[in-house]
Amino acid sequence: MSDSQPWVFMGGTFDPVHNGHLRTALEIQQWLACDRVHLIPSRSPVHRDEPGCTARQRHDMLTLAVEGESCLAVDAREIESQQDSYTLNTLKSLRRELGDQRPLVMVMGVDAYLTLPTWRQWDTFLSLCHIIVVSRPGYHFHPEVQVSELTQKHRIDKPAALSRRPCGGVLIHELTPLGISATQIRNLIADGFSPRYLMPDQVWHYIKQNKLYGYK
Ligand code: ATP
Ligand code: MG
Repeated sequence: MSDSQPWVFMGGTFDPVHNGHLRTALEIQQWLACDRVHLIPSRSPVHRDEPGCTARQRHDMLTLAVEGESCLAVDAREIESQQDSYTLNTLKSLRRELGDQRPLVMVMGVDAYLTLPTWRQWDTFLSLCHIIVVSRPGYHFHPEVQVSELTQKHRIDKPAALSRRPCGGVLIHELTPLGISATQIRNLIADGFSPRYLMPDQVWHYIKQNKLYGYK
């Protein structure tokens, strides 16, 4: 693998993983023509309530979801870390591994991007990575002033620009719109409905087997 090829990842709670996550990751991999996109489940989410199952279970569901798909991989660094799941820690850990020169790309939905100013030391992220912001049904790109300024200052238009430097670009990208959320899936299961076809069957089987999210 070439050292100038971007190392691309998408973080999240993945509580549970669904086709919105998986299709996003695959479309980004194909658009960038990189080897793979890494999915990084968080250990203890900093920005939200406790998830409906353990970090290990969220990790196991991700592993089942990407089985047989060589373009997607699961990276367990956050759940194996003793540190809090701050994106800053993850970026620093990846930088230590990749060195200063390799392009590093963080993919996030527009909903996550709009909340960036609430993340620890968010204003240092672009000195460590590039950011790809992907569209998500139900969320519009109406940034408040800090995110708007960040975007204007760092915006790039072509994926090729990601390979020219290690960090510092913001790229906005439209995807096949899939209005799926983990919240919707947790609610369906808790209410006794099937989430089938919103997520891989293997993941749904795992949820049933382990009686997660209130499945009876
Ligand atoms: P929850 O409803 O529990 O918040 P979620 O579906 O938003 O779950 P997360 O784990 O919070 O999933 O999201 C991880 C990342 O994936 C975020 O950057 C989020 O914006 C992105 N994402 C999630 N679902 C979609 C989707 N359907 N389309 C595009 N991006 C998505
Ligand atoms: Mg979310």
